[in-house]
Amino acid sequence: MSMKQYEFWFVVGSQDLYGQEVLDTVAKRAAEMAEALNASGNLPCKLVYKVTAMSNAQIRDIVAEANYDKKCAGIITWCHTFSPSKMWINGFVNLQKPYCHLATQYNLEIPNEEIDMDFMNLNQAAHGDREHGFIAARLRMPRKIIAGYWKDESVQKRLGSWMRTAVGVAFSRDLKVMRFGDNMREVAVTEGDKVEVQAKLGWQVNTWAVGDLVKVMNAVTEEEIDALMAEYTAEYDVATDNIAAIRYQAREEIAMKKMLDEQGCMAFANTFQDLYGMEQLPGLASQHLMAQGYGYGGEGDWKVSAMTAIMKAMSEGMTGGTSFMEDYTYHLVEGCKLSLGAHMLEVCPSLAADKPRIETHHLGIGMNEKDPARLVFEGREGDAIVVSLIDIGGRLRLICQDIKAVKPIMEMPNLPVARVMWEAAPDLTTGVECWITAGGAHHTVLSYDVTAEQMRDWARMMDIEFVHINKDTTVESLEKDLFLADLAWKLK
Ligand code: MN
Repeated sequence: MSMKQYEFWFVVGSQDLYGQEVLDTVAKRAAEMAEALNASGNLPCKLVYKVTAMSNAQIRDIVAEANYDKKCAGIITWCHTFSPSKMWINGFVNLQKPYCHLATQYNLEIPNEEIDMDFMNLNQAAHGDREHGFIAARLRMPRKIIAGYWKDESVQKRLGSWMRTAVGVAFSRDLKVMRFGDNMREVAVTEGDKVEVQAKLGWQVNTWAVGDLVKVMNAVTEEEIDALMAEYTAEYDVATDNIAAIRYQAREEIAMKKMLDEQGCMAFANTFQDLYGMEQLPGLASQHLMAQGYGYGGEGDWKVSAMTAIMKAMSEGMTGGTSFMEDYTYHLVEGCKLSLGAHMLEVCPSLAADKPRIETHHLGIGMNEKDPARLVFEGREGDAIVVSLIDIGGRLRLICQDIKAVKPIMEMPNLPVARVMWEAAPDLTTGVECWITAGGAHHTVLSYDVTAEQMRDWARMMDIEFVHINKDTTVESLEKDLFLADLAWKLK
């Protein structure tokens, strides 16, 4: 399902003490608010006003309905009046969808002349939302709380941003990952408990033989390749005479896409150590698949592949700047410390500052019989995050670091791969100490679109550990946080 097909349900709390007139006003205003929020252009999905809830049975029923409706990606609640929270318990304990508490009120100002006890009975959000918040805290519910005036653009944008995260939850719970071959031999961080991942995050991670892919590749027609070549030449500059290598990548892309789509997989991983029957490691092929929203992970890294797909789904319709990434090498000059991110071939062209070039070069590593074609480009400038999901033993840990991508400070004319250069928070070397302390992988997802707040919310909804390395992080504070988190997660 695409972003626009999802909807969120607006459930407004009240009770039956106030008489029909008040309840009618609440319902009318709730519908008006949903309509205005939808018209604002700040929400990626439709907000549907569902009910002014006044009883335990009503809330239990709407939660049951939300749990089973595939279109519903989450519920958003608000209390116009007071809404005693014991009547929310039976619903909330069964809620399986993401939940956001919008702590707002209908009116912007306290109306000096108009305010009387009728006004006070109708407009009780300030204490209604506190009673409502208590029960979620008491039940230890994973939730997002957004406070502020509902017409403020910043509030609307935060709500929209949370909706994207909730869609990332729905996407994760349905995600299938196709592995071509196993992980790279002896590598530790790309391993993980696939059963735990499926139970927690929903991912179905399974393996297909490279030989099966080769069979599908051999059945790809010249006409199919011609059509994809037309796309390549429209989107990229061809900077090689080796057209046969590009056509071979097209054959690989078409075959992989056929297998992915046939199985309903939105992410895949492969390894240069297992290319039996293939002439080239898929480079351009993997890059162009990523540009279409598929997740990718090198060296069999199915976790980073799945995270790439999820973060692409969360940022659908934005700049698209989200990719599989790897920290390769540092520039450690005092006053100008930078990380150079790249991969052997596979960086998504959605990061590119300018039109990518298709080049072919020898690739010494792996089973390549021929020079693989790949897209070469510089990443664009901008604030971004890098994200790594690791299996820390007994639980999953999501590590997120704030970075600032810069224009690469040198041309690197002999580097035959796409490259991104960045400053890292709090500074490069402290950031590296923090990243290594937390156990973050060399592979990451880099995104200009998805924010650290979204990844924190996603981790909370998924019930996994979250670590954020930002401008305020010190090694000492991080070590303490990790120590306490280790104890807390063992008790959970
Ligand atoms: Mn790698």
